[in-house]
Amino acid sequence: MLATTRTLLEGIKSHKRECLARAITLIESSNREHQHQATLLLQQLAQHQGGHAKSLRLGIAGPPGAGKSTFIEQLGLRLIKKDHRVAVIPVDPSSHISGGSILGDKTRMEQLTRSSNSYIRASPTRGVLGGIAEHTSDVISLCESAGYDVVVVESVGLGQSEVDIDSAVDMLLLLVPPGGGDSLQATKKGIMEAADLVLVNKADGDLLNSAKHTKADYAGAMQFVRRKNINWQPKVLMMSAYTGFNLDKVEEEIFGFHKLMLDNGSLIEKRTTQSKQWTLGQFRRLLTETVESDNKWDPHVQELFEEIDRGRMTPRAAASRLLGKLDLKVL
Ligand code: GDP
Repeated sequence: MLATTRTLLEGIKSHKRECLARAITLIESSNREHQHQATLLLQQLAQHQGGHAKSLRLGIAGPPGAGKSTFIEQLGLRLIKKDHRVAVIPVDPSSHISGGSILGDKTRMEQLTRSSNSYIRASPTRGVLGGIAEHTSDVISLCESAGYDVVVVESVGLGQSEVDIDSAVDMLLLLVPPGGGDSLQATKKGIMEAADLVLVNKADGDLLNSAKHTKADYAGAMQFVRRKNINWQPKVLMMSAYTGFNLDKVEEEIFGFHKLMLDNGSLIEKRTTQSKQWTLGQFRRLLTETVESDNKWDPHVQELFEEIDRGRMTPRAAASRLLGKLDLKVL
């Protein structure tokens, strides 16, 4: 381990924010040496922690404009008052297409940003090694090691990746705006199945009535959704991030879920399942990288390509020949 990495290790253990930020940058780097240092750092921190973190990992999904960032800010401010330390990781699953739009967005969660007990760090997914969930999970671990006991992962943007967030967190909240049947129709089945709690936001002023209808729609629909957890029946609640209506109840549900899952062992089980999936994902990535960065493959590839040029070899057979050349003696 390099001296700079050791400094980061000590800095994170003593909850220094700037060290956390530098460590996340290390994880996000595509430089091989940085990647190696990041691996060592995460391993050392895990050993220091000695077992599973008791933290709460909360995922928030929902369409743009539902009020996710307004809600996260209000929830974060409430939790900080109760001596929690809150980290927020907005993840934009579509940023590899749009070019990382959220990173320059500084006006979000302004009050929360100012608190010394919160840390907000947008996580670029463009060029990130491994999948969103793997990458996010490393950032979550770092935040936990730096003393944040509540880590909120916000899915910014739309798409299938909303559901991916669930494989990095303990609990997934789906936040929706009022909007009669439209709101429900716009919501994909996958995210409904993954949600542990559905929150109909903006239940205030003129929107209250519409919120009631939306709540009834979701409550009805959730009855037909495949249960993801036998110990938990997902609920649908109305709330208002503006007026604070029902935020007490929302908080109660979140911590009730967390305690139940910790007590009955489901939380640790979910996390270990996630870690095993990431292990295989990381292995696949390392394997591909190792093969692609090693130029001793070039002559083999060239030879097979010549066979293909002559029309004497199928791609399947060529790929399987290449696999046969892989030196697995280390096993
Ligand atoms: P996000 O895209 O899901 O993060 O949504 P934002 O938090 O940026 O909110 C989108 C819009 O909805 C903003 O104009 C907010 O001011 C508004 N908004 C958020 N929460 C509430 C709420 O509880 N009630 C009402 N009436 N508006 C809200």
